[in-house]
Amino acid sequence: MARIAAISIHSCPLGRLGAKDTGGMNVYVRNLSREMGRLGWQVDVFTRRHDPAEPQIRQLGENARVIHLEAGPCELPKDDIYHLLPEFVSNLLRFQEEADLGYDLMHSHYWLSGWVAEELRRRWGLPHIASFHTLGEVKNRARLGEHETELRIETEKGVIAGADQVIAFSPHERDQIIQLYDGLPSKIKVIPAGVDPGMFQPLDRMEARRKLGISDSNILLYVGRIEPLKGLDVLLQAVACLKERGGLRLLVIGGDGQSDGEVARLGSLAAELGIDEVVTFMGTVEHETLPLFYNAADICVVPSYYESFGLVAIEALACGIPVVASSVGGLVTTVRDGETGYLIPQHRPEAFAQRLDWLLSDGDLRRRLGAAARASVARYSWPLIAQQVLDAYRALAERAQQPDVVSAL
Ligand code: UDP
Repeated sequence: MARIAAISIHSCPLGRLGAKDTGGMNVYVRNLSREMGRLGWQVDVFTRRHDPAEPQIRQLGENARVIHLEAGPCELPKDDIYHLLPEFVSNLLRFQEEADLGYDLMHSHYWLSGWVAEELRRRWGLPHIASFHTLGEVKNRARLGEHETELRIETEKGVIAGADQVIAFSPHERDQIIQLYDGLPSKIKVIPAGVDPGMFQPLDRMEARRKLGISDSNILLYVGRIEPLKGLDVLLQAVACLKERGGLRLLVIGGDGQSDGEVARLGSLAAELGIDEVVTFMGTVEHETLPLFYNAADICVVPSYYESFGLVAIEALACGIPVVASSVGGLVTTVRDGETGYLIPQHRPEAFAQRLDWLLSDGDLRRRLGAAARASVARYSWPLIAQQVLDAYRALAERAQQPDVVSAL
């Protein structure tokens, strides 16, 4: 049975979602690993120990497990992890030796893990497939005030040059890797992220609202980590344009203690705009409970300055909820303007407000877009996505002349 080492050093796939550093990447690693495990791969996801109470090894699913390795104190923001990477590599090598495990491929997630995989490659000589989830240079260009370091950008360049294959989540991300990082087009494969259409599915709206105790008539929903790049300031300004509408509520889901500063900043902005009564900051919500919130909503809004993919958009679409999103990154591929929602260029609050107003005023339009939304996500189901990633692994194993791996796939 072929065995893959997935590296996700800064964020555990079992972490609480919606916190400062836990979001789409965690959902991706968790679901992809489970799916690969089901298809017969052995998947070990290596991550930094973040909770002293956690056992070193936790099962993620059939054939898939998470392995926590020591590297620095548990509580550490991801910006402080770089200098701990060599220690993480040593501990990973020690674990591998003691457990007497041989791996066939490495798949790294995010630039810090890309560095780790490149180091391991020097020892193991294994093929390395890299997914970045976000790229420093792209973030810096997406929004004034972003400060991704030269160290990150240079490391990303090194990983892109060294890895055997890079998975981009959207054609936009592929183009950015080529244009901003001199990535070789032949190395980059576009494979989107996925959604579980069984978990995220349409439910009765009134029933969902009743279960959540929501009585307002018009619900706008934001779901995600709380950080400036997510564009919540634009959404608040858009909601301020709509404040004359009665019965309007914006639910903001996401944000933990580490996001407190940003939540406070947004709370003050809402007060300044005179909409503090309209906006509810909910904190994080369990992933499994989110289908109820999507279904209780009239519209899901994704106002980001940048999204390499944007899982929240396809989760809402899978629930049959129209999405109004910024016209950036992966959202351009997942949301079809005028068919499953609207794409708004240039982060203009008035443009968001106009589309939200249209949709809130026209139940038939919402239902039409919602039905098309649900139909549009079939191609993102995890088994289909995992199969595409496996095809990429297989092609890589063929190139690396690993006949055992090719036949095991
Ligand atoms: N999420 C969650 N609970 C929360 C906030 C977010 O389960 O309180 C999940 C959400 O359902 C989605 C992920 O976190 O699967 C966010 O992914 P996305 O790609 O939209 O954003 P990213 O975190 O990658 O910037």
